[in-house]
This record gives sequence, C-alpha cells and structure tokens, in this order.
Amino acid sequence: AAAVAVDAALLAGVLMRTGEQPHASDVVNYAPFTLLPSAVPRALFEQAYAVQQDFNLLVDAISQNKEFLEQTLASTVKVDDFTAQLFRIYMQVLEEGLAQTVFLGINRSDYMFDCGLDGTAALRQIEINTIAASFGGLTSRTADVHGLVLKVLGKTEEASHLLPNNPAKGLASGIAKAWELYGSQRAVVMFLVEEIQRNIFDQRCVENELWSRNIRVIRKRFRDVFEQGSLDASRRLYMDGQEVAVVYYREGYVPQNYDQQNWEARLLLERSRAVKCPDIATQLAGTKKVQQELSRPGTLEKLLPGRPEAIARMRATFAGLYSLDEGEEGDRIAATAIADPDRFVLKPQREGGGNNLYGEELRQVLEKIKDSPERTSYILMDKIKPQPALNYLLRAHSPLQVSQCISELGIFGVYVRQGQELVLNQAAGHLLRTKAIEHADGGVAAGVAVLDTPYLV
Ligand code: ADP
Ligand code: MG
Repeated sequence: AAAVAVDAALLAGVLMRTGEQPHASDVVNYAPFTLLPSAVPRALFEQAYAVQQDFNLLVDAISQNKEFLEQTLASTVKVDDFTAQLFRIYMQVLEEGLAQTVFLGINRSDYMFDCGLDGTAALRQIEINTIAASFGGLTSRTADVHGLVLKVLGKTEEASHLLPNNPAKGLASGIAKAWELYGSQRAVVMFLVEEIQRNIFDQRCVENELWSRNIRVIRKRFRDVFEQGSLDASRRLYMDGQEVAVVYYREGYVPQNYDQQNWEARLLLERSRAVKCPDIATQLAGTKKVQQELSRPGTLEKLLPGRPEAIARMRATFAGLYSLDEGEEGDRIAATAIADPDRFVLKPQREGGGNNLYGEELRQVLEKIKDSPERTSYILMDKIKPQPALNYLLRAHSPLQVSQCISELGIFGVYVRQGQELVLNQAAGHLLRTKAIEHADGGVAAGVAVLDTPYLV
C-alpha cells in the first residue's frame, strides 16, 4: 500500500523540491504524507467550518482598529525587534494615508482536538495564520491519494466517504476577486516568494488556477522588488514597467526573511495602491500577542459590537491564553507555569514552527526571564492534549514504521473588502496535518508534520 501511495502522490503532484536541490525542479520528491487518512470527529470538523467566516470578520476588524493594535502590541514592540519593525511600517503607512482601497485576506485557522478526562474531544484553536498560510495547494490533491490507498486495502466503501477539498481554487477565487476590483486588465498578480523555494509546487497550484482564469502571475523576491519596484504619482506599483494589482506574500513572516533592503522593499509594497495579501495591519493581527488579548473577557465584544452569536462561536474554540506582561497577573501565571510546566506551552512572537517551548525547557527559560522585561515577548497557552492514533508517516528515504500520531486541522478563510464593504467572505477548504507524538512542535515545512486527509467519524 505504501508503494502505491507514493506513486499516486507523485502522479497527483503532491510534490516538494529536495533539500539538496531547492532551487530547481529537475529532481523532486513527494511531500511527506500519511499512509492512511486520520479519524476526525465530524461535529468538530463542522464546528471549525462554521466559525471560519466569523474569524475572517474578526481578523479584518482587528486590521482596521489602530487603537487596539497599538494598545495590544505596546509591550511587545518594546522587547521584540521584528514586531517593532512591522509596527513602524504600519504607523508610517497610516500617517501617509492608505493608497490601497481593496483588501484581501487569506488565513488559516488551526485547531487540535483536546481530549477531556471523560474521553470526549473538544475543538481548540492553536492559532490563526494571517500571512503565507501554506499547503492549500498540495492538500487539494491528497484526498484522491488516500482514496486510492483505501481501495487497495479493500476499503472501497470508506474511500467513497472522503470529502473533496480544493483550497487552491478557493484561494485563487479570492485573489481573482481582488484583482478584478483593482480594475486594471493589464495588471498582474505578484507572488512574493522566498530565496529558497522548496514548497514551490504548493504555490503553483494556486498560481495555475489564476492562469486558467487568464490572470497573469509573476514570482518575485524582496530583492527583486528592491531592484525593480517603483511607485507612480498615484502610488500604483510597477515591477520593471509592469503594473501589479495584487501582492500575495509567501514570504516575509520571520525575521530571517529581512535585511535592510528587504525592509525597504516591504515598505514600498505597503505604501503602494496594490492589494497586499495580507496588508501589514493584517499580519500584525495574526501575532500571538493579539491572540492572547482576544481571549480576555470583553475584547471580542469591543472588536465586533452587535455580533454576540459570532463571538460565542469563536470563544467556544479558545484555549486558555495568558499574558506575561509585567505586573501581578503575569507574575502569578509565570509562577504557576514554573510549578507545572506540562500544563502549558510558552510561545514567542514567531511563526513557522519550532519556536515554542514545552516541559522542562519551558520551566528553565521562564525561570531565567521571569524578572526581566524579556518575559513580555512571550505568551503562555494551555497545552492541548489530543488522543493519539496509529498511522504511518511516509517520507522519502525513511523506513516504513507505525507511529503514535496526533493531528491538527486547519480551515482556510478568504475574504475581500472594498472600502468598508465586505464583498466576499468564505471558508475555502481544509488541511489536516499529522505528526508523531514525540514532536511537540512544528509543521510540514519544518519537517515534522505530514499531509493527511480527514476521515469523518
Ligand atoms: P507557529 O506560528 O510556529 O506555527 P503555533 O502556535 O502554530 O506556532 O505552534 C506550532 C506547533 O506547536 C503547532 O502546530 C502545534 O503542533 C504545537 N502547539 C502549539 N500550541 C499548542 C498547544 N497549546 N498545545 C499543544 N500543542 C501546541
Ligand atoms: Mg502554526
């Protein structure tokens, strides 16, 4: 079954460039995936879909609320240089006045299934990714692979229950809508990509959806923008003379993505009239510090007045989140976590996996920083404890072995706003990622989790 699965993945285009040759597609591998689909409680899956439009609204509202972003990130920007630099650009473009009038959000809200003492599972949000949320492309092809594997194993009936899933198409429809509202037939969509593009096939899935709608796509790096980018008098963005309608960031979410030139390029893009996905305010709305503030009583009510039902749906997915800001509240929770580290996860303001601290390491770090302002660059979160299940993680050059695994469900959200009017607000598909339980942290790109398909039970 594993041999069939691997060939099916290669045929379906579930691909990644290799670590040895990340700059060209002459040699490629399959992206890691599970041999079998994983069981997901149907009620929790439906709950995650049902709350996605609410989260789209919320992220969009935060991105327009200067006072909230300023207050919430005040302590963070003092100690975290990366967030501070993003925040400086945010303030600078606001002062100048936004040229951008069409806004496009593509996010992915991630969840785990927390197992209670009585064995029932609850949906718990891990985070919302508001920039460069990946694997919508490759995962549009995994259900077919898993369907074939089930048939090979004699589970034809089960194979027919796997859900179709096409986030690539959903994301492209949002980008296409933003492109259309920008209103220039000749303008292109620019994918802002990394220097090393191992995950290029995931992006190509979205890119090709746009080409099929006769929308031109170019792929550029920050340094290309620095060298070739310019604004005209009405702040239209040009790359080598070609007008850009939409900038879709698959880069720019971690400090390592930036040197001085790249920061200048980012500022140029943010100042422009082009639709940024996301604009810098929406990127800031996705910080861990903002997530922690959202869990405070009363915050959601302030951000979304008159929407009690949406608020109840969102709040039902929140895990316990705690501020480590200086003061009594922070002192108390720091002491609790040092005494009982296995109850918590310690998170810095970083994206991309592999940054969080757990267990003994959490205790040591917190002990060290508990009396310093550095503490405020982290938040604490209740640790989610899902029920493990057996599966096989298929990875090139790895022996086939059964592992105890846990899964994380992501729902893609897409929305488009023109001025104050929301013209599109959708859930655009899902992503299931599964990892062996010995890894506390990390996603697919980090080499820990693998692609999966939910089998609803
Ligand atoms: P990042 O921005 O680096 O992706 P996340 O908050 O998504 O940060 O955390 C990375 C990974 O760590 C998650 O994919 C999940 O596997 C694990 N993780 C994060 N928060 C928790 C939590 N509260 N309980 C258990 N595991 C968690
Ligand atoms: Mg994450």
